[in-house]
Amino acid sequence: MSKEDQFTMPGLSERIERFFEELPPLLSGVEGMVARGKAYRKALCEAGLAGLDVPAGYGGGGYGPPAKALFAKLSRGRIPAEDDIFTIGLGMALPTLLEFAAEHLRRRYVEPALRGEEIWCQMYSEPGAGSDLAGLQTRALRTAGGWVLNGQKIWTSRAEIAQFAICLARTDVDAPKHKGITMFVVPMDQPGVTVRPIRQITGACEFNEVFLDDAVVPEDHVVGEVNGGWPVAVALMQNERSAIGSGGGRRPVPFEKLRDLVHDRGRAADPRVRGDLADCYIGQRLAELLSELEAESVDAGTPLGAETSLGKLWRSTNGRAAAALVGELAFATGTAWQTGDDREDWAYAVLDACALSLGGGTDEVQKNGIAEKVLGLPRDPYRTDKVPFRDLTVGTQRD
Ligand SMILES: Cc1cc2nc3c(=O)[nH]c(=O)nc-3n(C[C@H](O)[C@H](O)[C@H](O)COP(=O)(O)OP(=O)(O)OC[C@H]3O[C@@H](n4cnc5c(N)ncnc54)[C@H](O)[C@@H]3O)c2cc1C
Repeated sequence: MSKEDQFTMPGLSERIERFFEELPPLLSGVEGMVARGKAYRKALCEAGLAGLDVPAGYGGGGYGPPAKALFAKLSRGRIPAEDDIFTIGLGMALPTLLEFAAEHLRRRYVEPALRGEEIWCQMYSEPGAGSDLAGLQTRALRTAGGWVLNGQKIWTSRAEIAQFAICLARTDVDAPKHKGITMFVVPMDQPGVTVRPIRQITGACEFNEVFLDDAVVPEDHVVGEVNGGWPVAVALMQNERSAIGSGGGRRPVPFEKLRDLVHDRGRAADPRVRGDLADCYIGQRLAELLSELEAESVDAGTPLGAETSLGKLWRSTNGRAAAALVGELAFATGTAWQTGDDREDWAYAVLDACALSLGGGTDEVQKNGIAEKVLGLPRDPYRTDKVPFRDLTVGTQRD
C-alpha cells in the first residue's frame, strides 16, 4: 500500500494534536532564535510532519495540499515564533525549486530546508528596485568558473543567518527589462558576499543590506532558464503572498491578546473600542477563511495566481488596525515604558506593524495587481515591454 493510500485525515489530526501536546518539553531549555527554530523543525521532522505536501522523494510527507491545509488549521497559534526564520526557505524558495529548478538542485536543497538545517533569504529588492522590481541592476556574468555577481541588495530579511539566497540578477541588458533577468541560488558564505544589518524602528535587526562583489555562483545554480527568471520570480512572489496571507512571517497581534488587553485596560464597555475589537476579529477570521479558500483551490488543481494579493493585503490592513488599537489602549497614559513592563511587547507590536504594508510588496502594489489581474481593469499605460533595459531610466540609472 502506498503512503498516499495509508493516509487518512483523522489519523493525521491525531498525530498533529499529539505532536503539539508533546512539543513544550522538547523546546524547554533551548535558548536563542536559531537554536529554538531548528529544534522545532527537528521535532517536526522526527514526527513525520514536516512538508506534508512535499513529495516523499524530497523528504516530505507526500500527502498533497489537503494535509498541508489540515496542518495549518490545527497548528494555528501553536507554532513557536522562532519558526519564522524558515518562512523564506519553506514558503518561497522550496515551492519555487520544486516547480522550476533542475533535479540536481531539488535533490540538494529541498530536504535540508525542510529539516531546518539550512536557512534561506530572498535577494530581490535593491536601492532602486522595490515595487519596480524588474528594474533591478545587479549584474551576473557567465565566466569559465561559473557566474559572477555584482550589485547591491537591500531589505534582505535573515541574510545575517542564511546559508543560501534566492537571488535575481540581470543577465542581458540589451533585452527589455522583464526579459533579461535570471534567478540564481547564491551560497552566502563566501568572500564576495557582505551582509550589513539594518536596525529597524523596533530596535531589532531582521533585515540587511547585501553587497555582491564578484560573488561566485556555480554554473548549474540557475533556477529556470537563463534570461527567463521573471516568470519564476513572479511565481515565488505568489508563494510569498500566500505564505504571508496564511499567517507566515511577520505576525500581527492575535485577536485573543487584543481582547485580553481591552479587558485589562477596563475598556470592554466602551462602544467604540468594542466595535474596533469586533472589526479586528472579523478581519482575522476573513484572513483565515481567504487562506482556506486558497488552499482549497490549490487542492482542486488551480495554481496560485494574482488572488494571493487579497490575503496579503488583508493581513496587512487588519494587522495595522489591530496595532492601532493596541497603541490606543496600551499607551493611553503615555508612550514611555520600562524594560520588562508589558508595554515593551506592545510597543514592539505597534512599531513592527509598519512593516506589514511593505514586506512582500506594498499595499499599493497588491491593489494594482488585484485591479489589473483579478478585476481585469486597464493596465498601467506606461509600458516598456519593447525597450532594451540599458535605455531605460530605472533604478539608479535615473541619476
Ligand atoms: C520587513 C520587511 C522585510 C523585507 N524583506 C525583504 C526580503 O527579504 N527580500 C527582499 O528582496 N525585499 C524585502 N523587503 C523589501 C520590500 O519588498 C520592499 O520594501 C517593497 O517591495 C517596496 O519597495 P521599496 O521599499 O523600494 O519602495 P518603493 O517601491 O520605492 O515604493 C515607495 C512607495 O511608492 C508606492 N508605489 C511604488 N510604485 C507604485 C505603483 N506603481 N503604484 C502605486 N504605488 C506605488 C509604494 O506602494 C510605496 O508606498 C522587505 C521589506 C520590509 C519592510
